Amino acid sequence: MELKPKIYDYIIAGTGAAGLSLLCHILSNDNLKDKSILLIDRDLKDKNDRTWCFWDTGESPFESCLKHTWKKLSFHSPDCSRLLDIKPYAYKMLDSLSFYNYCFNLIKDKTNISFIQDEIRHVDQEKGLVAGLKDSYQAAYIFNSILFKNINQLPGKHYLLQHFKGIFIQTEVPVFNAEEATLMDFRIPQHNDCRFVYVLPVNNTEALIEYTGFSSEALSQECYDRELQAYIQEYLNISKYKITHEEFGIIPMTDAAFDKGSKKLINIGTAGGATKASTGYTFSFIQKQCAKIADNLAAGVHPLAKSSKRLDKYRFYDSIFLRVLSEKKIPAVSVFSAMFSKLPAEVILSFLDEESSLLDDIRLMYTLDKAVFMSAALRNFF
Ligand SMILES: Cc1cc2nc3c(=O)[nH]c(=O)nc-3n(C[C@H](O)[C@H](O)[C@H](O)COP(=O)(O)OP(=O)(O)OC[C@H]3O[C@@H](n4cnc5c(N)ncnc54)[C@H](O)[C@@H]3O)c2cc1C
Repeated sequence: MELKPKIYDYIIAGTGAAGLSLLCHILSNDNLKDKSILLIDRDLKDKNDRTWCFWDTGESPFESCLKHTWKKLSFHSPDCSRLLDIKPYAYKMLDSLSFYNYCFNLIKDKTNISFIQDEIRHVDQEKGLVAGLKDSYQAAYIFNSILFKNINQLPGKHYLLQHFKGIFIQTEVPVFNAEEATLMDFRIPQHNDCRFVYVLPVNNTEALIEYTGFSSEALSQECYDRELQAYIQEYLNISKYKITHEEFGIIPMTDAAFDKGSKKLINIGTAGGATKASTGYTFSFIQKQCAKIADNLAAGVHPLAKSSKRLDKYRFYDSIFLRVLSEKKIPAVSVFSAMFSKLPAEVILSFLDEESSLLDDIRLMYTLDKAVFMSAALRNFF
C-alpha cells in the first residue's frame, strides 16, 4: 500500500531572517502555535553569516539576543558633522548566529515543528509543493524566502547594489565610545560614486567598521580592505588592532516589482519585496511583513489578505532616489548631507521606516535639490 505524503499546515522554505522571523510570529500566536510546520533550508544556520542593524521604538521580539543598542548616532560629511539624539528610536545590532540559535531553541521540544536540510529546486504554487533534492514536501501554505530568479530579471526600472565589507576589530587599549555609533561617514573619497563607512562600537575596544557603496557593481576585496585600513588609520586614529570577524554582503536596491505570491505560495523577506529599495534595510520590514501574515493566519484569512501593501508613495520616492543615484547628476553625499544637517533624526528615521507623516515628507523633500529630484520624478512618472 502506498503511503500518502504528509501535508503540513505550513512549509517555511528558507530559514534565514524572514523564515525564522515568521516562525517566531507564528509561535507567539496562541491560535497558530500547534500548526504542523516544516522548515527547510540547505544550510544548518550554524554560522554567524551577517550582522543586522535596525531601529525601532519598542521591544523587538529578539531583544534577548541583541548584541548592542545605541541611542545616539553620528553623521559625517565634508560639509557637516552631527551627533543625533535618535529618541524615541534606538538603533540595534543583532548577530545572525544568536538569532538562528534563539529561533531554533524555541522549537527544540516541539513535536509539531521539524527541520529538514535540503536543497530546494522548485516550488509549485498550484499544488503547494516544494521539490527538494532529497524529497518533495506539501503544505496548505508555503512561505518562501528563496530568490529563484536573478533580481535583474524582474521587471523594474533601476538596479543598484548595496555592497559592503565589514570587519569587527579589537584594540588593545580603549578607543571607542560604545554609547555612540556612526551611521554614515561620507568624508572618505567618493570615486564619483556613493561610498560611506559605518562605525558600530559594541564596547570601548571592539567595533564593527563597514565600508559601503551604492553602485551598479561591487568592488574587489582588495579595494574594501584598502579603504577600511585607510579609514581606521585616518579617521579613527587606530594603528594597532586585530580583526576578529569579517562579513561581506550585497543587497539588491531595485524598484522591480517582486512577486508577493499567490493562493498557496507566499514570498517573504527579500524574495517578497521586503528590502527597501533606497537603503537596503530589510530586517524591520521583514518583522512588519511577518507580523501581518501571522495575524491573517490567526484570523483564518489568506496570509496576504488586507496585506500591509507597502505604501505606494514610498515606492515612488524610492524609485526617484534610485534614478538620482544612478544618473549621478548630483553627488549622493550632498543629498544625505542636506538631509542630516537640516532635519531631526526622528524625521529621517521615520521616513526611512515608511512611517512618516505627509508633513514630514514635505520637510524632507524641502532639503533636496528640487530641480534634480523634480526632473527625476517627472521622468519616472511618464
Ligand atoms: C551581510 C549582510 C548584512 C546585512 N545587514 C543588514 C542590516 O544591518 N539591516 C537590514 O535591515 N538588512 C541587512 N541585510 C539585508 C537583509 O536583512 C538580509 O539579507 C536578510 O538576511 C534577508 O532575509 P531573507 O530571509 O530574505 O534572506 P536570507 O536571510 O538570506 O534567508 C534565505 C534562506 O534561504 C536559504 N536558501 C537559499 N537558497 C536555497 C535553496 N535553493 N534551498 C534551500 N535553502 C535555500 C538560505 O540558506 C537562507 O537561509 C544584510 C544582508 C547581508 C547579506
